[in-house]
Amino acid sequence: MARDARRASWRFLRFSCRRAPAPALRGRGGAAHSRGVNPVDYDALSKEELIARLKSFEREQAGSQEELLKALKELRDVKAALDEHSIVAITDARGRITYVNDKFCAISKYAREELLGHDHRVINSRYHSKDFFRDLWSTIAHGRVWQGEIKNRAKDGSYYWVDTTIYPFLDDQGRPVQYVAIRTDITQRKADEAELERFASDLAEKNKELEAIVYTVSHDLRSPLVNVQGFGRMLQRACEKMQVTMAAAQDGVVPVAALKQPMEETIPQSLRFINAGVQKMEMLLAGLLRYSRLGRVTLNIAPVDMNAMVAAIIAAMKFQLNEAKAEVRVAALPPCVGDHDQISQVFANLLDNALKYRAPDRRLQVTIAGEVKGQTAYYSVRDNGIGIPAAHQPKIFEIFHRLNPEATAGEGLGLTIAQRVLERQRGRIWVESEEAVGSTFHVTLPAS
Ligand code: ADP
Repeated sequence: MARDARRASWRFLRFSCRRAPAPALRGRGGAAHSRGVNPVDYDALSKEELIARLKSFEREQAGSQEELLKALKELRDVKAALDEHSIVAITDARGRITYVNDKFCAISKYAREELLGHDHRVINSRYHSKDFFRDLWSTIAHGRVWQGEIKNRAKDGSYYWVDTTIYPFLDDQGRPVQYVAIRTDITQRKADEAELERFASDLAEKNKELEAIVYTVSHDLRSPLVNVQGFGRMLQRACEKMQVTMAAAQDGVVPVAALKQPMEETIPQSLRFINAGVQKMEMLLAGLLRYSRLGRVTLNIAPVDMNAMVAAIIAAMKFQLNEAKAEVRVAALPPCVGDHDQISQVFANLLDNALKYRAPDRRLQVTIAGEVKGQTAYYSVRDNGIGIPAAHQPKIFEIFHRLNPEATAGEGLGLTIAQRVLERQRGRIWVESEEAVGSTFHVTLPAS
C-alpha cells in the first residue's frame, strides 16, 4: 500500500473508532466530579493504597489498549475486504478526495496523486444533469446515504458506470465530516441493458415492418385471386351452358353455333386471365420467399474494393448501357466493409433502375461517387431519369411497390431487398429525387 493511501486509511480508521475513556485520575472535585463519577480523595490514600490503585489503573489501561488494537485490526480487515471488492473513495466535507483505493485508480485510469486533493469533477462524464448531482449533494450534506448509478469518464476518455453508495460520517452535531463512496463497476451490465433495449426497439421496428409486409402482400395477392375466382365462375357458367346445349341436342347433332361462343371466346379468355392471375400470385410468393430468405443467408463480411466491384457491374451491363447510349461516370470510390455479393446486388439493382426509369427525351447520364466521413463510407448513384414524385419516395422501399407497373417490367422488390441487405450490414439507403429531373440513391456502409 502506498504511503499516502496508508495515511488516508489511518484517517479513515481514526474516524471509525471512539477513543477509550481515560481513567479518572484526578484530585478532589474537578471535572470527574462534575461528570458524576465518584470522586476519590487521593491525598487521603496511603502509599500502599496509591500503589495498588496505580497498578489497577495500569492493568485497566493495558486491557483497553488491547481491546483497541483488536478493534483496529478488525477494522483493517474489513477495510481490506472492502478494498478487494469495491472501488472506494473518501472525500472531506467539501468534497475533496482524501483517499482512493487501487481499484478507483485502475478504473479511472488516474494516478493517486492526480486525484487526491481534487473533487470528483475530474471524472465527470457530463452525462448526468446538474440536478442529478445537486440531489446527490443535498442528500449527503444532510447526513443521509445516497445510492445510485453514475456514468464516469476515465482519464483516457473512455466511460464507465458505477453503482454507488455514498455514506456520510457525521460529527457529534450530526454534520458530515467526510464521505465514503463505495462503488461497483457495472459498465458491462449497462452495456448489456443498452443492447437489450436496442434489440427490443429493433424487434418492435421489425414487427411493424412485418405487419406492413403482410398487409401489402395480402393486398397484392388479393387482386389476382379475385380475378382467378371471377374467371373461374365464368368458366363454370360456360361449361354449364355447354352441358345444357349438349343435353338438348337432337339425334346426336352437335349444335355448333350454340357452342361457338363459349368454346372460342369465354373459355379461352377465362383461362388466359386465370393463368395470368396464377402467374402473378406465383411471382409474388416467389418474391416473398426470396425476401424472407435474405435474413438467413450467411454474410461473408470483408473489405470490399468498390472500384473493382462497380467496374465489374458496368462490364456485365455493357450491352444494355450501350443500347441506351448511357453515359456512366464513376469517381474514385472508397472501400467499405461488407458482403461483396450482396453489395454488388444492391449497386447492380440501382444501375438497372437508372436504365429502366430513364427519361425517353434525353441521353441517360449516371454518376457514381463516394467518400468517407468518420467511420462511414457514403456512396451515391445519380441519374437524370424520370425522377420520383415526392409522395411516392417513401413508398419505393416497400415490398412490391411499383409506381407505374404497366410501363416497365419489374417485381417492386429490388429496393426492398437492397434496404434489407444493407440493414444487415449496418448500412442504409435513401433517395433524393425530383420528378422529371432525376434521382440520387444514397448508400452508406461501414468504412474499411
Ligand atoms: P422495380 O424496379 O422492380 O419496380 P424497385 O424496388 O427496384 O422495383 O423499385 C421500386 C419503384 O421505385 C419502381 O417501380 C420505380 O417506380 C421507382 N424507382 C426506382 N428506381 C428509380 C429511378 N432510378 N428513377 C425513377 N424511379 C425509380
